[in-house]
Amino acid sequence: MTLIAGDGVGPEVISAAIKVVEAAGVEIDWDRQAAGAYALKRYGTPVPDELIVSLKRTGVALKGPLETRSGEGYRSINVYLRKTFDLYANLRPTLSFKGVHTPFRKVDLIVVRENTEDLYAGIEHEVAPGVVESIKIITARASRRIAKFAFEFARRHQRKSITAIHKANIMKLSDGLFIRCARRVARDYPEIRYQEQIVDAACMRLVTNPASFDVLLLENLYGDIVSDLCAGLVGGLGLVPGANYGDKGAIFEAIHGTAPDIAGKGVANPIAAILSGAMLLDYIGHPGAAESIRAATGSVLRSGRVLTSDIGGKATTDEMTAAVIRAMGRR
Ligand code: NAD
Repeated sequence: MTLIAGDGVGPEVISAAIKVVEAAGVEIDWDRQAAGAYALKRYGTPVPDELIVSLKRTGVALKGPLETRSGEGYRSINVYLRKTFDLYANLRPTLSFKGVHTPFRKVDLIVVRENTEDLYAGIEHEVAPGVVESIKIITARASRRIAKFAFEFARRHQRKSITAIHKANIMKLSDGLFIRCARRVARDYPEIRYQEQIVDAACMRLVTNPASFDVLLLENLYGDIVSDLCAGLVGGLGLVPGANYGDKGAIFEAIHGTAPDIAGKGVANPIAAILSGAMLLDYIGHPGAAESIRAATGSVLRSGRVLTSDIGGKATTDEMTAAVIRAMGRR
């Protein structure tokens, strides 16, 4: 597998994930590759050719977050990798954990985000001084295939409903096409309830009654924003894993970024990266090991004794990682 430690807290949380995967009994030959700000500094490019060659060869990666500067600098390498390898489905399971105190209990949301188009196509230009145009691309092909991915996921995991979240009252053509495609795909899955909600109202309902949602189906930009909102419901970005799936490969990564405010301090919450490692193990055919990692993280969080500061404790990244490994040993 390809391993991208990433920038900021990336190397800290990815090292935690590797240790836990190893402790789960799965031996992986990691091909370490540089990307992002670290690669730019070291090799003069944020996407070295070796990285692309490695991803083409392995088809699977565990990845830390990569820095993308706001309003300047190179374009997002995350977006570049997702588009280059056509990793069109971003899956972000967001679950409450006993022991992590939030105003909500039993949140269980699956965010399915289209990963290749929308405003993330990055087609922007200056029309005239002081006037900039940014183009939102929505295609029937990509909308249909992400809807199909969401419905197939829901069917496989016995989920009850899918809510397509949109702003088709304003973007009648683009978001209109997205929901028309979702409606068409929904007809093939009569056992799954299909509903639609406008994105602003959906955000309000998510923070007042998250239990009224199950699987959320969104375009790229709404998906990114709403998944961070969902992370807030369960205790923060340090807890939510993610996967970018294509037909031929996948990249697994926590939903959080480089967390520059805590990078290098050894206090980042490793759970999101560890659970992303568990999703990778599911994907490569080790569901038992994946389940033992999930059970161990659940028990560490539930006991509440070894928690990082983002979820109310004082533990370091290493202490929490060691606690997860100990909990696996007890099973
Ligand atoms: P961020 O997710 O890095 O941080 C937001 C807040 O959450 C910060 O206060 C941070 O300390 C906290 N946080 C994040 N992960 C945490 C963890 N594991 N444990 C404890 N606290 C954690 O978002 P940002 O500050 O908006 O972005 C920083 C950089 O990360 C930017 O360059 C952005 O482009 C990049 N980014 C990359 C990815 C990715 O590579 N997939 C995703 C999001 C952001």
